[in-house]
Amino acid sequence: MPTRDLPTFTGPNLTGELQLDFQPRIVRRDLRVVRAEDITPRYRRIELAGDDLADGFPFARFSPGDHVKVFFPDPATGTLTAYRDTGDEWELDGDGDPIHRDYTVRAWDPDSRRLTLDFVLHEHGVAGVWARHAQVGDRVVVNGPSANQLLPEDYPVYLAVGDETALPAIARIIEEAPARSHVIAVVEVANAAEEQDLHGVSGLDLRWVHRDTAPVGEGHLGALETAVRAVALPDDLGGLFVFAAGEAGAMKPIRRYLRHERGVPRRQVEVDGYWKRGATDFDHHDVDIPED
Ligand SMILES: Cc1cc2nc3c(=O)[nH]c(=O)nc-3n(C[C@H](O)[C@H](O)[C@H](O)COP(=O)(O)OP(=O)(O)OC[C@H]3O[C@@H](n4cnc5c(N)ncnc54)[C@H](O)[C@@H]3O)c2cc1C
Repeated sequence: MPTRDLPTFTGPNLTGELQLDFQPRIVRRDLRVVRAEDITPRYRRIELAGDDLADGFPFARFSPGDHVKVFFPDPATGTLTAYRDTGDEWELDGDGDPIHRDYTVRAWDPDSRRLTLDFVLHEHGVAGVWARHAQVGDRVVVNGPSANQLLPEDYPVYLAVGDETALPAIARIIEEAPARSHVIAVVEVANAAEEQDLHGVSGLDLRWVHRDTAPVGEGHLGALETAVRAVALPDDLGGLFVFAAGEAGAMKPIRRYLRHERGVPRRQVEVDGYWKRGATDFDHHDVDIPED
């Protein structure tokens, strides 16, 4: 898949809706861990570097949905198998099964040529466990991103909602939102120790939802949905853009509330399921969050 014949868009995005700026090709980069830092007890920041970043990385401002496919070693064999672009097609570079997961491009430093990814640490999957034990020198393959997902920059108010898997994206919204905009961020984490120090746009209303103690509304609402319902949306809904991501089952009622109960127009609501409880290697393209 060396080239992509798809419509593309180059920012700044003042169109009022998400725009995709496709890369001419999906690039494979063989990288190594150069720094691993615990940010909280269940969150680890990993910096990657390597010769394959010498020509740079397609980082775009205010595109918090940008993500790469990270290929990990098989925990049983230690073998890392990934796809290689032969010019005509993508071929596996070994006999093993490729193990890959999606991770948000948290930051790119063009001076040090380091790519930063933030990992939730959990015991249930290959990536969550890999991140906990990652050490300087460990190898991963990173493919992509396939496109920069440019959020519209012409809204006065942004509502950013998610659990800890969406924290890198929400942190980017807070850091990169248009200067005079107001950002309301509602973030669900395990407990108070998981709060992160987030700074950026001056008009920030940051609300942490602690899963261990958060109130939930009547009718079996989740803690995150309950917190979203407590947000006073602007009177003029035309001035609101929403980005929401996290556990797929938790995202559905939040989207339903915003779109159908509150009537936020479709082009102003971007919702993605980043993982699904009980599903291994969940593909966010399969998520059945309705598009209407
Ligand atoms: C576009 C996109 C961007 C993403 N960005 C990030 C990011 O920046 N940082 C990040 O940490 N994650 C991010 N994710 C989520 C991440 O890809 C998934 O959590 C992934 O399933 C982790 O892989 P795993 O091998 O650890 O678990 P899997 O092998 O996929 O799943 C095994 C089990 O673990 C459970 N599980 C998966 N994720 C979690 C979790 N976070 N907490 C508790 N249980 C879990 C599954 O339900 C399943 O039961 C992103 C996902 C998408 C689609």
